[in-house]
Amino acid sequence: MTSDTTPRPPFLSSLRCLRCGTEYAPDAIEYVCACRPNVGSDLGTLDVEYDYAAIRSTTSPEQIGADPDRSIGRWWAQLPVQRESLPPLPVGNTPLLHAKRLGESIGLPNLYVKDDGRNPSASFKDRASAIAVARAQEKGSAVVATASTGNAAAALAGQAAAAGQASVIFVPKTAPKAKIAQLLVYGSRVLAVDGSYDDAFDLCVAACAEFGWYNRNTGYNPYMTEGKKTVAFEIVEQLSEFRDRSYELGARSYDSAPLTHNSKLITPNSVFVSVGDGCIIGGVHKGFNDLLALGWIERMPRIYGVQSAGSPALYNAWRDGREIPLPVAATTRADSISVNAPRDPVKALNAVRQSGGAFVLVEDTAILASILPLARLGAVFAEPAGAAAYAGLQRALADGLVGRDETVILINTGSGLKDVPAAMQMTGEPLTIPPTLAAVHRVLQTINNR
Ligand SMILES: *Cc1c(COP(=O)(O)O)cnc(C)c1O
Ligand SMILES: [Zn+2]
Repeated sequence: MTSDTTPRPPFLSSLRCLRCGTEYAPDAIEYVCACRPNVGSDLGTLDVEYDYAAIRSTTSPEQIGADPDRSIGRWWAQLPVQRESLPPLPVGNTPLLHAKRLGESIGLPNLYVKDDGRNPSASFKDRASAIAVARAQEKGSAVVATASTGNAAAALAGQAAAAGQASVIFVPKTAPKAKIAQLLVYGSRVLAVDGSYDDAFDLCVAACAEFGWYNRNTGYNPYMTEGKKTVAFEIVEQLSEFRDRSYELGARSYDSAPLTHNSKLITPNSVFVSVGDGCIIGGVHKGFNDLLALGWIERMPRIYGVQSAGSPALYNAWRDGREIPLPVAATTRADSISVNAPRDPVKALNAVRQSGGAFVLVEDTAILASILPLARLGAVFAEPAGAAAYAGLQRALADGLVGRDETVILINTGSGLKDVPAAMQMTGEPLTIPPTLAAVHRVLQTINNR
């Protein structure tokens, strides 16, 4: 008799090591392959595989589109947890904005911003943390833990609070105040590590092994990719809604654009996302791969990873043709993508190489400068790591990597409220005036005389 009490969704088939190719039954392993269980960039990261025929025979884009639940739960057939296990704090369904003025300012009329800063904890990381809490609950773990530069932790803290699940968080003590505040407010046990993100990561792995906690660490827990991939599902669905709406309005623009028309779901030409550990970009790739395997889209978009020149480990590996990046001493102001030794390098490099995209490097000055046009022309307030995607798009346009007629998706990965000092560094302080109309007149005069 088996005594497996862990509930399993019907369509998870196996986990395969991206390093040595070993295949595991879903119940046989939770984190990384035995070929390289130690921490560092060269982990035996696992890829989660599904029974696509079963998924196809059970659900369809039409059915998913008609689901009244707009959260990632409606993609239950492609998730590694039971739908009921997801915490009651809905994740996903973030807006896809047609950024017309921002796009026109750089000669790209079909530019869209997927604003994942509008998730419940204000970053993309909610997509993964919901899955982590669901799995911890399915396993009956007393505690779920993570190391994080801030956003993964804030997301875990929020999802854990929603589910009534205890959480322990390891953050570098230099993480922005707003992110640390989120952890404390949601009631996580917060351990601010006097060291780098990489130090916090290793410590979390050791603590989880010691105390039997469920480990959410990025790149270490293979299921985080499975939450992050949901962004790709939403992108194709939302692009299709734009098409349907523009047809209704009599617009023909989609007829001339090089898009997929035969299926219900529209694939963009390229997707830009910032990269630290490489888990988000790996998730984007996995999402489109799932849709291809299901026959719901017809081709893979080119996926572009944007890194800061101050944290270029994956860019360097891509440029040099390496499978495993060499660690760097990261210094970028964009804290969410400041990583010495990326923890999800294989999925990240596969995403770019297999999709025909590229890694793009941008200076911190370009990252910070991107915050303003993204907000003033695109109406999206991004934290530096989110704004980096726009800096990367401009770089790619300048390098001729992107055509003017392409449908381009920029993913904003985090809200600007996460790092207010970075934003204020770009805007400066407001004028202070006495509460008189005369003072307003004086100010207007100086402006007019300028
Ligand atoms: C985590 C994060 C990233 C980078 O994601 P990786 O999976 O580490 O590559 C980018 N932007 C924001 C805002 C993040 O929180
Ligand atoms: Zn292996």
